[in-house]
Amino acid sequence: MFRFGPSARLSVQLRRTLATHASTPAPLPTRHSWTKPEIQKIFDTPLLDLVFRAASIHRQYHDPSKIQLCTLMNIKTGGCSEDCSYCSQSSRYSTATKASRLVDIEPVLEAARKAKENGSTRFCMGAAWRDLSGRKRGFERILTMVREIRGMGMEVCTTLGMLSPEQARQLKEAGLTAYNHNLDTSREYYPEVISTRSYDERLDTISAVRDAGISVCSGGILGLGETDKDRVGLIWEVANMPEHPESFPVNALVPIPGTPLENNEASEPVPYQTILRTISTARIVLPGTIIRLAAGRQTLDETQQAMCFMAGANAVFTGEQMLTTPLALKGRLEPGSPWDEDKAMMGRWGLEGMGSFSQANVARKEGARLGNGLEVGDVRTAAPTNGSKEGETIGV
Ligand code: SF4
Repeated sequence: MFRFGPSARLSVQLRRTLATHASTPAPLPTRHSWTKPEIQKIFDTPLLDLVFRAASIHRQYHDPSKIQLCTLMNIKTGGCSEDCSYCSQSSRYSTATKASRLVDIEPVLEAARKAKENGSTRFCMGAAWRDLSGRKRGFERILTMVREIRGMGMEVCTTLGMLSPEQARQLKEAGLTAYNHNLDTSREYYPEVISTRSYDERLDTISAVRDAGISVCSGGILGLGETDKDRVGLIWEVANMPEHPESFPVNALVPIPGTPLENNEASEPVPYQTILRTISTARIVLPGTIIRLAAGRQTLDETQQAMCFMAGANAVFTGEQMLTTPLALKGRLEPGSPWDEDKAMMGRWGLEGMGSFSQANVARKEGARLGNGLEVGDVRTAAPTNGSKEGETIGV
C-alpha cells in the first residue's frame, strides 16, 4: 500500500499552500466610498469565483481557523409596539410569543457563566422594546448585567431598540462591547417591512452607538421579499458608514406563524446560493468586519455552513437555550445549536473558537479596558497572507 513519508507529506502541504495562496490578490483597502454598481458587480460574479475572492480576502484580514461563538439570551420577550413584519414579538400580530417582564439579574449571569464555560466569548442580551423611554429601572438592571458579564472577561452585546446618545454613553461606561441594531434591508425596500420607525431613525441609533465608542453590529435579513438589488443596497449602506460595522449579521428568514411574512419561505425561499453570495460580497466589501451567520443557520447542512466559513463568515450563535430572538432578527422560534455539536462540527473542518476581543476593530474600541499593558495599536488583525501563524492577534 502506498504511504506518504514525512517529506512527501511536507511537499503535499507546500503544494496545497502554494495552490491556495499563489494567486491571492493584493489586499483591498478598507473603503468607505463604494458605489452600488461596484458592489452589484461583485455580487454578480460567477459564484465560485466570488467565493474564492472572498476567501482570499478573508485570509488577509482574519485568522480563517477561528469562529466566534456567541450566545444569545432573551431578557424580555413579546409585547413590542413596533410592526416589523417578520417578528413574533410585535404586539400587533397574533403569535405564540407571549409578553414577559424583564428577567432578573442572577439568571442572566448564570446563563453567561454557562456560555463562557462552554466556549462562548460573546454574550448577547435582547429585549423586545421600541426604545428605552420610561424604562429607567429596567435600564439600570441591564447596566448591572453588562458590568457583571464584562467582568467575566466576555464580550457583551445588547439589542434594546432605539438608543439616545446618553443611553449609549451609559452602556459604554458599564462596559458594553457591542450594540446590535440591524438595518434589515435596503433603504428602498425597508418601508415594505416596517412602518413604525424609519430607516433614518435606525441610522441615528447606529451613530449614537458608534459615537459612544461601542462596536456596531448591524446587518440584515434575507427572504423578506427583497431582490438582489436590495441585498446590494444593504451592503452599500453599511459600507459607506464612517466606520464599517464591526459585525454584520446575515440572517435568513424563518417565517413565524401569525406574522405578515409567515408564508414567505414557502413562496420565496432564499436559495442557499443567495446566502453564500451575500456573505461573500459582504466579506469583500467589509474586509475587517466579523460576518455573522445568524438566524436560519439550522436550515443549512454542515457542508453548506463550511462553505460559508470558507467565504468569510466567522461567527455563529450557539447554546442550548430555545431562542425566540436570534440577535435582532427577534421573533423566530429556533433552537440554538448546542455547543458540543457546534464544536464537533468545527473540529471536523479544522476550525476553533475565537478568543474574546481578538477582532482588531473591537479590541481597538476597548482601548484602556484591555488592562494588559498593551497599547491600542498593539492589537492587530490575525491576517497572515502566507498561511503561517505569524500575525496572530494580540489581545486579552
Ligand atoms: S424586531 Fe424588535 S423592534 Fe421589531 S417588532 Fe420585533 S422586538 Fe419589536
